[in-house]
Amino acid sequence: MISSVLFIVFFAMAITFFVKRILYIKRNILLGKKETINNQPAERWKMMFRVAIGQSKMVKRPLAGILHIFIYVGFLLVNIEMLEIILDGVFNSHRLFSFMGGFYSFLINSFEFFALSVIIACFVFLLRRNVVKLPRFHSAEMTKGPKSDANAILLTEIALMTAFLSMNAADSLLQEIGSAHYAQTGTFIISSLLKPLFAGFSESTLIFIERGAWWFHIIGVLIFMNYVTYSKHLHIFLAFPNVYFSKLKAKGYLPNMESVRKEVELMLSPNPYSNSSSENEEPVKFGASDISDFSWKTLLDAYTCTECGRCTSVCPANITGKKLSPRKLFMDIRDRSESIGNAMDLQKANFQPDDKNLLNLITPEEVWACTTCNACAEVCPVNINHTEVIFSLRRFLVMEQSSAPAALNMCFKNIENNGAPWQFSPEDRLLWTEE
Ligand code: SF4
Ligand code: SF4
Repeated sequence: MISSVLFIVFFAMAITFFVKRILYIKRNILLGKKETINNQPAERWKMMFRVAIGQSKMVKRPLAGILHIFIYVGFLLVNIEMLEIILDGVFNSHRLFSFMGGFYSFLINSFEFFALSVIIACFVFLLRRNVVKLPRFHSAEMTKGPKSDANAILLTEIALMTAFLSMNAADSLLQEIGSAHYAQTGTFIISSLLKPLFAGFSESTLIFIERGAWWFHIIGVLIFMNYVTYSKHLHIFLAFPNVYFSKLKAKGYLPNMESVRKEVELMLSPNPYSNSSSENEEPVKFGASDISDFSWKTLLDAYTCTECGRCTSVCPANITGKKLSPRKLFMDIRDRSESIGNAMDLQKANFQPDDKNLLNLITPEEVWACTTCNACAEVCPVNINHTEVIFSLRRFLVMEQSSAPAALNMCFKNIENNGAPWQFSPEDRLLWTEE
């Protein structure tokens, strides 16, 4: 009875914190501009099945891709077992679904296979990060925080899966000695490898290990579920909507600026202020300098970024030593969203925006280093669109701050004076025909 009450209280607390945190993230994402994305639903579903569920981009690097699939499928499947664990916790029962007999044994053995796969894959990932030291996990933006986050997640997954296997091993031994309360469920193949570790233990010690592992597993999963909302692992939830709402047009497609279209219309109109609404409208802002200038989809991109660094590893600007790292752009956008979100929660009705913006985090040097090749978007496993952010920041720098590299300023000047980017007068254009 006491254990049921304890379980229900803990479970309710974990769900409450989780829902609160999800609502906080949703509010932060909606700090971005409104944008309606509902075209081509069939195409979007197909893309989501291919890229998010089928992990088509992950397997382009086969080792990491296959290991990631083991972690992803394993973690999802093993957590189906959570349903039984939760019901057992609420009703103080034990292996509630064991009435399914042979099928139950098949399920648990499948979960054990994937639990072992998760452990192996996490070890390999830890080695790649900390021993082999793959460069993409050690670039400048991968400071102590992001590095520890990745390691903490991998170690937690190992601990949770080990608890699951230990629980089953102790449970099997208790079944063998006919302990009351432990229903006969058939053999658990993989966890039986752990049995020698517990050989000779008394019944009470085995019950302590089994119950300890059970509580560790369920409490660990509930804490983990809350932790991921603060971590890059949020992608386990957000990858699906992010891919669904991602861009369907060609990667190089650059949308027209609505604000420029309006300005041109005003300039060409014989009576620009005949429409009183134009006069009263807020002055338009060209490009983007802060999160509220981007669509909510860009902020969703930032919260979904897995910090895998695939984009940075293929970026020609980064490879040739420029300061730009496409991954950092989205880490900065997420940090800025969090800092504004926290200030809003702290100041409540008195919230005043600070005088900072994204350009305090992303320098013009980074913005102008991009070659707009879109290699980053091509490899991104969650379909993030990097160049849209870079273009918007550039547009702000040029059109709001008249700040552009010298070579471009010369080009702009020529377009203004000569109607072309070159330093020749329009009258001289046909000179070549004279020869
Ligand atoms: S589009 Fe820009 S940021 Fe992306 S890979 Fe190319 S140069 Fe790098
Ligand atoms: S933007 Fe995409 S490729 Fe780059 S780190 Fe994030 S998830 Fe990985």
